[in-house]
Amino acid sequence: MSLKLFDLTGRRALVTGSSQGIGFALARGLAEAGAAPVLNGRDPARLNAAAEALRDEGFRVETLPFDVTDHAAARAAVDRFEAETGPIDILINNAGIQHRAPLEEFPADAFQRLLQTNVASVFNVAQACARHMIARGRGHIVNICSVQSALARPGIAPYTATKGAVANLTKGMATDWARHGLNCNGLAPGYFDTPLNAALVADPAFSDWLCRRTPAGRWGRVEELVGAAIFLSSDAASFVNGTVVYVDGGITASL
Ligand code: NDP
Repeated sequence: MSLKLFDLTGRRALVTGSSQGIGFALARGLAEAGAAPVLNGRDPARLNAAAEALRDEGFRVETLPFDVTDHAAARAAVDRFEAETGPIDILINNAGIQHRAPLEEFPADAFQRLLQTNVASVFNVAQACARHMIARGRGHIVNICSVQSALARPGIAPYTATKGAVANLTKGMATDWARHGLNCNGLAPGYFDTPLNAALVADPAFSDWLCRRTPAGRWGRVEELVGAAIFLSSDAASFVNGTVVYVDGGITASL
């Protein structure tokens, strides 16, 4: 197999929720593999700062701000971008939120926000992009899942439900769209030090538990997600469809 299969030169990659955290690291990693990243998020200041940081490194970067929970906004933004700028070849559905509370006290509105941001968003943006990808007969979609797609932890049952749904939605996308030349797969991170996990990172008891529970014995580094993202976004994955790649230091493999 030639390493050229992993080359993303000439491809444009929309990464939702890429103004910080995992999304930013993936956008940067795809850029290093040759792709032109399109950054997305809601906060314009954070989005522009992220884009500037990548431009300072010499990467060609575009921004496409919209709220991934808004189906019409996602469709309009993607259609406008495709018409005015050019094709989106790769979509990384990364935007997501967390909310922690005991299930018996979990606020109903927080449950709805989780469903909208973590699951409906994946449908919204994938549908918007897939219409164009199907017309071209090719495209790569990578949905960011989680170890919580497979495992539960106390206090995050609704998040666990959303990430299980994303993994299954990925199978559905592959089932409907592989015949149109699309590759749709999931990437499931373990535990990474990002703003989403600020409370866990600040809790030494949690870190102790995590390092004992994870065969690799440590937190993940966001750069360690890049290799799998490049693979799933590239021609090297031409016959890979509907699967989820876990990048978690072995946590889902062990009891
Ligand atoms: P962060 O909170 O660090 O970043 C989330 C990003 O998503 C921000 O750029 C935020 O920007 C954007 N975002 C949030 N809501 C929306 C929205 N409605 N529309 C558009 N953009 C939005 O999270 P992480 O980087 O930690 O997580 C990224 C993904 O990885 C999530 O899906 C998460 O569930 C998943 N994950 C994370 C793990 C971890 O250990 N960190 C482990 C497993 C999975 P803004 O607020 O400006 O819109």
